Amino acid sequence: MSHDRSAPELAALGEFGLIDRIRRRAAFQAPGTVLGIGDDAAILAVPADHELLVTTDMLLEGVHFRRGWGSWDALGRKSLAVNVSDIAAMGGAPRHALLSLGVPGDLSATHLEQFLDGFISGAEAWGVTVAGGDTCRSAAGLVLSITLTGVVARSRAIRRSGARPGDRIWVTGQLGAAAAGLVALRRGLRPDEAWPSDVDRPAWLGPTEESALRAGLAAHLAPTPRVAAGQALQGCAHAMLDLSDGVASDLGHLCTESGVRARVSARDVPVHQAAHVAARWAGQDALALALSGGEDYELLFAAAEDPLAFLRHAAPELPVTAIGRVEARGSGALLDLPSGEAVPLVGGFDHFRA
Ligand code: ADP
Ligand code: MG
Repeated sequence: MSHDRSAPELAALGEFGLIDRIRRRAAFQAPGTVLGIGDDAAILAVPADHELLVTTDMLLEGVHFRRGWGSWDALGRKSLAVNVSDIAAMGGAPRHALLSLGVPGDLSATHLEQFLDGFISGAEAWGVTVAGGDTCRSAAGLVLSITLTGVVARSRAIRRSGARPGDRIWVTGQLGAAAAGLVALRRGLRPDEAWPSDVDRPAWLGPTEESALRAGLAAHLAPTPRVAAGQALQGCAHAMLDLSDGVASDLGHLCTESGVRARVSARDVPVHQAAHVAARWAGQDALALALSGGEDYELLFAAAEDPLAFLRHAAPELPVTAIGRVEARGSGALLDLPSGEAVPLVGGFDHFRA
């Protein structure tokens, strides 16, 4: 059976050939790399008066991504980006990545190279050394497991647990773009391809709306972790996390860990234009996409001081918006709808749909 054997080029390369290629290509060395790929373990140094952050995320074919939705290059970059976002959300600087690959027999060496192009370009952009990993054959689908370290000055990491009554709740960027991109991908739109002839296009969906949807595709396939902003918010944010699951769910985590109750104003949520277009196209609610869509990888944080002063130099172009406030000790979050009604802000958007 052909699916039981590696594609010829990959088979020719072999496990050690592949590791060698990764080693030769991943030349960038972040500070603190005493020894990278090639030994039984990497040796990493943590700067004096700093602490080590460690995070890991898995991306599974068929669960987190599908072949053909975006380029292999974008997948490589995203697989690192989602980990970088977790380090950013602690206020840390990303440093060293371990790249573990479960490679199915039907994956071509060309596609794996393109994946590496994206992974390594991301590593260079975010100052990350590829310091090791593991390489295995997968029986079903491509398996990606990335572990990333970061460093942060001692006791300066921004946890989820520090929010206090009186803090305002802030978000960076605009929300719902990645969810809108997912709607568009599911309906057949692809980056760098014209509108497919077999995909229904409503009369109202003109070039402006299409470019909004394409911004959504980019947000979903190639998210930008807010590294500089995360570090700049040290000393400002009392509690922070990155928006991987959406405000409805992630603000709940912040409230639970901090032991506080929060209140969000629907009117203040910065809804990305792509979410408005995708919602109209798919008969969904734009606010629901923005609050429960997930994968925006923006920062959500609680702060008493105005964060603009902290972000002005580090991230001058990045919008930051107050969407609500921490009311009191307690738990859970409420959403004030434009109608005046207040509903619980929880994972399933049906609960707060007007
Ligand atoms: P061991 O059998 O001792 O675990 P491996 O043969 O798995 O060693 O790995 C050899 C070296 O190559 C190690 O330094 C490991 O970290 C590195 N390595 C293996 N796979 C990858 C990969 N996918 N990306 C980066 N480095 C890798
Ligand atoms: Mg190994």
